[in-house]
Amino acid sequence: MQKKSPQAIYKDPFRKGNHILVMCDAYTPAGNPIPTNNRNKAVKIFDHPNVKAEEPWFGIEQEYTLLKKDVKWPLGWPLGGFPGPQGPYYCAVGADKAFGRDIVDAHYKACLYAGLSIGGANAEVMPGQWEFQISPTVGVGAGDQLWVARYILERITEISDVIVSYDPKPIEGDWNGAAAHTNFSTKSMRKDGGLDLIKEAIKKLEVKHKQHIAAYGEGNERRLTGKHETADINKFSWGVADRGASVRVGRDTEREGKGYFEDRRPSSNMDPYLVISMIAETTILG
Ligand code: ADP
Ligand code: MN
Ligand code: MN
Ligand code: MN
Repeated sequence: MQKKSPQAIYKDPFRKGNHILVMCDAYTPAGNPIPTNNRNKAVKIFDHPNVKAEEPWFGIEQEYTLLKKDVKWPLGWPLGGFPGPQGPYYCAVGADKAFGRDIVDAHYKACLYAGLSIGGANAEVMPGQWEFQISPTVGVGAGDQLWVARYILERITEISDVIVSYDPKPIEGDWNGAAAHTNFSTKSMRKDGGLDLIKEAIKKLEVKHKQHIAAYGEGNERRLTGKHETADINKFSWGVADRGASVRVGRDTEREGKGYFEDRRPSSNMDPYLVISMIAETTILG
């Protein structure tokens, strides 16, 4: 038996009224966190005074693929066949390019109702693949919000008789994989001169590349091939405006000399508690 401990509360967008959704983590009867309770480990990092002082912000881009329930083949794809090659689908509109927008919009509204700081959604490069973003959220709350947003997406797709897949590379071949890009900044990075600190943080991430990759999601090696807007899993790289790098610094951040960076390595199925606590630990405490 596990003991559940309530950690965060949101409004329930399905039952409405006074109903709530409660994010819990799990403990053994003796009160020790169960081995998969990465939230408990994350809290230890985010409670560290040096981390707290830096008010770490995370903006996570959650990509996912919608599948037809019975055949587990992407929404909008011909049965037993493939759609036309990638190119016209990213942020597209039209019945022959965007598949599942009703689900995406219902999810967006439900997240807003729940009180999540969902910041946007877009159709992805691979048809049937979508993304939503949880906007900059402080510390462990970024993990809570992403998990609750995933839960709400499962509930919405359940109503729609559709399956949501977080597989990092749902379709082999010339089709983009699914990531969970994790955008990050500290108070110091957001201040004038912050770009220097961003570069220091990136150096620290490079040293720990292997450890980060090990925690960034299962099956990620099928996605991080160096193709399809990814970097090779075995080689750390960074660049300004470079979608083929492990870590990307945005043009705005470079121009302003402050801002944030994007860790493009985490896969769509990653545990955000692990990813955000590792980024904070490596860059602030490392
Ligand atoms: P792209 O698709 O170009 O990689 P998105 O706009 O999808 O970028 O995602 C960028 C994310 O970064 C958003 O969730 C945004 O809220 C977040 N973000 C913006 N500023 C910061 C910041 N200072 N620190 C952390 N995250 C940020
Ligand atoms: Mn994005
Ligand atoms: Mn994307
Ligand atoms: Mn991104």
